Amino acid sequence: MRRLEERAKQELLICDGGMGTQLHALGLRPGECPEEWCLDKPEQVRSVYQAYRDAGSSIVETNTFGGNRYKLAHYGLAGSVTDINRAGAALGRQVAGDTQHVMASMGPTGAFMEPYGDETEEAFFEAFAEQARALEAGGADAVIVETMMAIEECCVAVRAVRECSGLTCLASFTFDPQPDGGYASMMGVTPEQFARQALAAGAQIIGANCGTGADHMIEIVARLRAAAPDVPIIAMPNAGIPELRNGETVFPESPDVMAGKVGRLVTAGASIVGGCCGTTPAHIAAFARQLKQLR
Ligand SMILES: [Zn+2]
Repeated sequence: MRRLEERAKQELLICDGGMGTQLHALGLRPGECPEEWCLDKPEQVRSVYQAYRDAGSSIVETNTFGGNRYKLAHYGLAGSVTDINRAGAALGRQVAGDTQHVMASMGPTGAFMEPYGDETEEAFFEAFAEQARALEAGGADAVIVETMMAIEECCVAVRAVRECSGLTCLASFTFDPQPDGGYASMMGVTPEQFARQALAAGAQIIGANCGTGADHMIEIVARLRAAAPDVPIIAMPNAGIPELRNGETVFPESPDVMAGKVGRLVTAGASIVGGCCGTTPAHIAAFARQLKQLR
């Protein structure tokens, strides 16, 4: 199979939608460790991967977002980094076979590096390297470093993936609209700054995930495309901004509403399109129908 960064330069690819929402629907309770399900409830995790594959995704994204030792320590699982990540990637490979990619999710530590916090860059590097090695051992062929708050942490994770594994490294950031009409992360990083720094750290595909829905994502993708004309871009928008309706969190953008914007996402420069929070297999199936017409 060709490497993801090569394929993404030549064809439009569809990625998975949200993981958390699907696991909650299968019984994951608030306060429970989602990544532990890779070991304890492999059938359920595999069923989510399979649902997205059936919907038309060419990339299985793994249930390993919080699989670093800092996050797992909250559940007393800091010693299980290797087991959990290897299992999460191996389940992905079982579903993907040799025709689909397994893109492992790598999220933030929740801690802060000097000078904002007590952690050192070396400690972060080692934690991400530990996770990357386990993901590769389990059968992943790519990692997406996503939803990081700090650009410094994102870049350490990208370097750890590139230096300690042979995995394709994607980096994805979350941007919000600013009062001046531009976009920036919570800590003030613009899409242009993110693109420059993530690529310098070694990212092979860059993009944006989560955030405030598909409309803003189109504009963010256009800015990333302008900043990095030759680099494949991944776009994983939320299903809109979550609203509280009768005490329940609801994502307002339906599969058809979001699919109607996929063409503009691609025109703006996206080469891989999937979804983040609130997106479901029905969303991905609608994206796949839409993309078929664009290919
Ligand atoms: Zn999200």
